[in-house]
Amino acid sequence: MDTTKAHTGKWEKRWHPLRREWVVYSAHRNNRPWNFEVKTIHKEASSYDPGCYLCPGNLRVSGAVNPDYQDVFIFDNDHPVVGLDAPAIAEEISSAHEGLYKRASATGISRVVCYDPRHDVSLSELDVPRIARIFRALREEMVFFRNHPKIKSVLIFENKGEIVGVSNPHPHCQIYATDFHFNMVRREMEAMHVHKQQKESNIFSDIIQAELKDRKRIIWESETAVVFIPFFARFAYEAWIFPKKRHATLITMTDEEINGLAEAFRVLTRKYDGLFRSSFPYIMAMAQAPVDGGYYEDYHMHLVFSPPLRQPGLQKFLAGPETGADTFMADTIPEDKALELQNMDI
Ligand SMILES: [Zn+2]
Repeated sequence: MDTTKAHTGKWEKRWHPLRREWVVYSAHRNNRPWNFEVKTIHKEASSYDPGCYLCPGNLRVSGAVNPDYQDVFIFDNDHPVVGLDAPAIAEEISSAHEGLYKRASATGISRVVCYDPRHDVSLSELDVPRIARIFRALREEMVFFRNHPKIKSVLIFENKGEIVGVSNPHPHCQIYATDFHFNMVRREMEAMHVHKQQKESNIFSDIIQAELKDRKRIIWESETAVVFIPFFARFAYEAWIFPKKRHATLITMTDEEINGLAEAFRVLTRKYDGLFRSSFPYIMAMAQAPVDGGYYEDYHMHLVFSPPLRQPGLQKFLAGPETGADTFMADTIPEDKALELQNMDI
């Protein structure tokens, strides 16, 4: 029996400093490079779809009619997950079994953000000024939520592609503004506090510095922004975008920094599309500090892309370890995936 064979490739655990947990990598299980046999998706969509509830002038399920918008269009979700008119929970049923089981109103605001009136474009196909306009509109939304007495935290996210459950290709993202903190940001802030106590430094700055020093996972960099697959990536093509200067949320970012973020977004999504020769699916979440009036100057906002594909047509299933035990196991190594994206000319 050849005992050396099983140990070729990379096989190790890496510490995820912001989640404070291990990620397991075993690249020997899947070290054959994939070839590019993927078919280029022929786009049959047109710029307007009469059946699309996001296209200009169309009727939505609520009975509202979309305006003939030319730019970014934002409206309250017709099927809100959190809402200001969510049913109140009566005091007598808000707590049971001596506080073990609690319930509360699903208070918040759910919004949909249409990037562009055209039905058949994706964000990677828009130019930088247009993407920057989207980010500026999101910045305005953040100012609104910061000033809203019921909102404490805002999640801006984009689900892209049928593989992540989005059947409508019209380019859009969503906003969930809530009266509670989202787990990702809550966990990152806990890690940030622990790190500051132990090392007297900022965990986000330290990660950015480490990536810039290692260089091998950097996908793209400008004066104001940096894109990399982190050392501790959980998904094969997971990428993070940071503005280089620390901002807790979009609110304090200058137009120039917003432009840098837009350019980073465009470069990354074009590299994704180019590498997979198709419109690459992903889940993008914008990690921002809460907007509940607290002090969050140490928090460094960032964008996290979690693509479900490991190869064209091959999905990473969140199975036993991930769903069953909340622990990620990857069969790719971040440096290898970063190299593929680095080499992808756009
Ligand atoms: Zn549409």
